[in-house]
Amino acid sequence: MDFELTAEQKDIQKTVREFAEGEFDKEKILEWEQTHTFPKEIWKKAAKLGFIGIHFPEEYGGQGYGIFENILIVEEFCRRDSGIGIALSLVDFSSELILRFGTDEQKKKYLIPVARGESISAGAYTEPDHGSDITLMATTALKQDDSFVINGTKTFITNGTLADFFVVLCQTDPNATPSYRGQCTILVEKGTKGLEATEIMPKMGIRMTSTAELSFSDVRVPLTHLIGVENRGFYQVLEFFDESRIEIAAQALGIAQGAFDRAVDYAKKRIQFGRKLVDFQITQHKLADMATKIETARLLTYKAAWNYDQKRIDPKLTSMAKMFAGKIAVEVADEAIQILGGYGYITEYEVERFYRDAKITEIYEGTKEIQKNTIASALIGKLK
Ligand SMILES: Cc1cc2nc3c(=O)[nH]c(=O)nc-3n(C[C@H](O)[C@H](O)[C@H](O)COP(=O)(O)OP(=O)(O)OC[C@H]3O[C@@H](n4cnc5c(N)ncnc54)[C@H](O)[C@@H]3O)c2cc1C
Repeated sequence: MDFELTAEQKDIQKTVREFAEGEFDKEKILEWEQTHTFPKEIWKKAAKLGFIGIHFPEEYGGQGYGIFENILIVEEFCRRDSGIGIALSLVDFSSELILRFGTDEQKKKYLIPVARGESISAGAYTEPDHGSDITLMATTALKQDDSFVINGTKTFITNGTLADFFVVLCQTDPNATPSYRGQCTILVEKGTKGLEATEIMPKMGIRMTSTAELSFSDVRVPLTHLIGVENRGFYQVLEFFDESRIEIAAQALGIAQGAFDRAVDYAKKRIQFGRKLVDFQITQHKLADMATKIETARLLTYKAAWNYDQKRIDPKLTSMAKMFAGKIAVEVADEAIQILGGYGYITEYEVERFYRDAKITEIYEGTKEIQKNTIASALIGKLK
């Protein structure tokens, strides 16, 4: 067992840290956050330096690294700024579903532009009446001649108004029993007739990302837009979540670390009752608790990523990492606000944004309750 990052991984971490320190401008962050603006210039620069899709193979525009290296990038971005970090980490959302299940042609067409920063992807699973439970989709894709004809509504779709293409989970056989055996994942490009995206705003946090409702009205796409195997869409999405939830854990981890860094800096400077906050034992204990939570989340997240790259895919571990990292991100950001006192409540001091951004990691890609269900069912299965 070796807990040390390789020299290459340390290099990636250092390069990303320097990039984020140089590029993430505090004034611009405040403006983008307030105006709900996606950080386009930074995304372009990050992609140019190879920080997007580093885990795609070289023939598909990436650098052939594992998801471990990808989550190191996500963690560093979110540590420097939760808002930009999350926006950057989600520009390739659901591209992995194409990477794992798509044809060579689909991978070349869709993944290379994503890695180059020329295209943004999105994944549309949630519907107004089907959130945690995606076993039955109301959005249908019925075959007509050489096309799928899609009708329905998806909601809360990240990058909804920005994305160039969508991976859409559809019910292709409404009579299938069980229903999830009649689902397909289908590619839909921006601008396809009958597809409309409407921004949902304002929202609590992650304001530099777009969150939209998608409406599909007789949207016609060729049958070649099927991703993977017909009627295996549900299973493919679950497998994709085994990967993507580790990335969400890394977002949470970076946010927790970023909030902690700011709390330490502040506690070292702020003087009350003639002493620095950091000299009060209660502050020291708070910092010790926060650091212990972060370290525990890091161990779980890194282990889940490492296992994934070793092809020892373990949904239980992935869910543990996501659930725990999300929970401690909210707790650590909350404590950071407390350490900053009234200043913590003020936008300029950043930790209130970290707190608002942390909360989504307990909701999207499966709520913390759903993660617990996954963990419990794996445990009970083993005990039987
Ligand atoms: C900002 C944002 C971005 C998002 N991005 C995307 C995206 O890009 N693509 C996408 O498809 N979706 C996206 N989502 C949707 C997100 O994944 C869902 O909101 C989430 O899965 C929960 O679904 P729901 O909101 O319908 O809640 P519900 O499923 O209605 O759940 C409500 C509550 O009940 C609990 N609950 C439900 N079922 C159970 C159960 N069996 N056991 C115990 N508790 C249960 C939940 O944990 C939750 O606390 C996004 C959401 C937000 C807010």
